[in-house]
Amino acid sequence: MKKYHIITFGCQMNVSDSERVAAVFEHLNYSAVKDADDADVIVINACSVRQTAIDRIWGLTRDLNKLRASKGVKLILTGCVLPEDGTKMTARFDLIFEIKKLGELEKFLQQKQEFTGEDYFATTPLSDAPFSRFVPIMTGCDNYCSYCAVPFVRGREQSRPVKDVLAEIKALVQSGAKEICLLGQNVNSYNPADKESFAAANPFHHAFAKLLWEVNRLDGIERINFAASHPKDVSDELIEALKLPKQLNYLHLAVQSGDDEVLARMNRKYTAADYEKIIQKIRTARPEMAIGTDIIVGFPGETRTQFENTLRLYERVRFDIAYLSMYSPRAGTAAAKLVDDVPHEEKKRRWRELQDLMEKIVLEKNQKYLGRAVEVLIDKVEKAFVEGNSREMKRVRVYGDSRLNTGDVVSVEIEEAMMWILAGKTVD
Ligand code: SF4
Repeated sequence: MKKYHIITFGCQMNVSDSERVAAVFEHLNYSAVKDADDADVIVINACSVRQTAIDRIWGLTRDLNKLRASKGVKLILTGCVLPEDGTKMTARFDLIFEIKKLGELEKFLQQKQEFTGEDYFATTPLSDAPFSRFVPIMTGCDNYCSYCAVPFVRGREQSRPVKDVLAEIKALVQSGAKEICLLGQNVNSYNPADKESFAAANPFHHAFAKLLWEVNRLDGIERINFAASHPKDVSDELIEALKLPKQLNYLHLAVQSGDDEVLARMNRKYTAADYEKIIQKIRTARPEMAIGTDIIVGFPGETRTQFENTLRLYERVRFDIAYLSMYSPRAGTAAAKLVDDVPHEEKKRRWRELQDLMEKIVLEKNQKYLGRAVEVLIDKVEKAFVEGNSREMKRVRVYGDSRLNTGDVVSVEIEEAMMWILAGKTVD
């Protein structure tokens, strides 16, 4: 039996795409291997949102091409790849295909069986965590943030029909799914053509809020989350839908900067005050909601004062988690035409300053969980402990309960609160 190995870079959308790529291989009787050295075919599912990511892939292909030369391993590239990247990479790969055209992968693997993989969405993804599943509901992005290559690599927004999304979720429930994460580059601008597929009793008007309502009423689903959402598309109705019973107590909402001029140069289409107003409304609707964000430091032209505006916003919002990155120009984007004038050392200083603030707040917030019980979906079982995520997306470790298995949902009383992990014991 031939063997395949998939290397995934980037966001949850890419993880979800890799599940669909894995399904193509399994359909053609390939088996997955953990080590690239053991594979006959290696797929890189690339993220090229930042230049550093594409540089890493470029470095990786150097080693993988040694396997290609010595053992005849086939190398395949897919994911978020700009046409320019593809041209540069051509010599290093046997196949480069657009993720939406999974049929090209099947043709390359030279199997003749009938396969539905021509349609990306029609391919049933394969996952080793059946209890927690990703469901893409749209692809592409119309926002054109000036630093981001996604609109160029994924194209314009394209929403999946409501009936297909619900059918996929129902099938996943049959195979054990308890938690669903709805995915899209701009998930909350979901705008399907078949709005008549929403139930007549659906109380919402905004399509994404309507979809959340539909998924909330499906039997078998216990937890619902979504990513990635854009602040400009957070409507009052969506905030209302966050109160639906199966929604996680977590929302990820990228702010990117706390300075209006930087936000304008990023083409984010909101101000810092707009963003904070949304957070206030969310916290009024769901006071216990944990909020995560993304921030870029050292964007072209970002002055010290402008960076401090981000620090001040951070202190006011007190995020539960933030993914911080130092700006690096991505070829082909509008920002790449701006002068990258914040020196690397200064970017590193700003990143550190914000990271220290984030860690301080994370620890303070985690301390508040001491003595509280949180609901945890177990996704990892080790000899000495089990782990999973709480509804607030806190990582929780449980010691000394050998009855627990992956997929179990348990209540855990928190006894220890560290920076990146909470620990405790199960309670009834
Ligand atoms: S919203 Fe902006 S950052 Fe997100 S995918 Fe679209 S263009 Fe990129």
